[in-house]
Amino acid sequence: MNAPLDTSHEGASCGAHGVAATFVCTRCGDFGCAACLFSAVRGREVCATCAQKGLGEPIPWERRAEVGNVRAFWQTVKLAMGSPSRFFRTPTTQDSVIGAVVHGVLTVTIGLFLSYVVAGALVLLSGGAIAAIGDDTLAPVGAVLGVYGCAMLGLSPLLALMAGPANALFGQVIAAACAHGVLAIAKKSRGSFEDTLRVCSYSNAPYLFTFIPLLGSFTWFWVVGLEVIGLREVHRCGTDWAAAAAIGYRVVFFLTIVGGYALLVLGMVATLPPAPAP
Ligand SMILES: [Zn+2]
Ligand SMILES: [Zn+2]
Repeated sequence: MNAPLDTSHEGASCGAHGVAATFVCTRCGDFGCAACLFSAVRGREVCATCAQKGLGEPIPWERRAEVGNVRAFWQTVKLAMGSPSRFFRTPTTQDSVIGAVVHGVLTVTIGLFLSYVVAGALVLLSGGAIAAIGDDTLAPVGAVLGVYGCAMLGLSPLLALMAGPANALFGQVIAAACAHGVLAIAKKSRGSFEDTLRVCSYSNAPYLFTFIPLLGSFTWFWVVGLEVIGLREVHRCGTDWAAAAAIGYRVVFFLTIVGGYALLVLGMVATLPPAPAP
């Protein structure tokens, strides 16, 4: 963040346009002028030629003021899931990572809301089906399911708002901190922590689809896959290190939890009073 600004462009001229250069591209090192400036973030300027290796234009969510919030949100979800390499290779045009974090929180919260709606509708339908086909003894079961389904549908916005944003924010920051830590220790982090947090935020895009029955459970794998691709593009490291950063700490967490339970069970067995003699 506080790297000294490159002023070597002073006195140089833009190779493409022949006018006085105003910046040095932080990716290719070429001198550029205002006409070939893609990302104007101070100290992280990127030229238009390098940006062509990404989407060629800023991420839709960064253009939401002109594109419109809903369209920008949806296009960003589609691009992150459909062309993750080009998506994450696209230089950011925003100083702050907050916009990306908000996008990640929104995908998780909306996905959760839709999950409650679908679950509520399924419970309601099964209640109706039981009431329709069952005899009188089953009618109360159908009625209870109907009431329960209605309650879930009615409460879904509230439930999603209670659980969604905090979980999403916590998840993104933890994922970014762990992934960035692994890359930093391995000296493979060529991007900033903000870059890692941006990757972990936009990678939540598949969580929008957790509401799809059965298939929704697999969105987690897609999210981790996007993180691997995003970390690789942003830090320009190999897929192996990106995978180690995105998956490694999750394996450690998992083993710690499993190991913790194992110790707990062992401890309980060890403290059991000896069986009374027959
Ligand atoms: Zn460049
Ligand atoms: Zn130029």
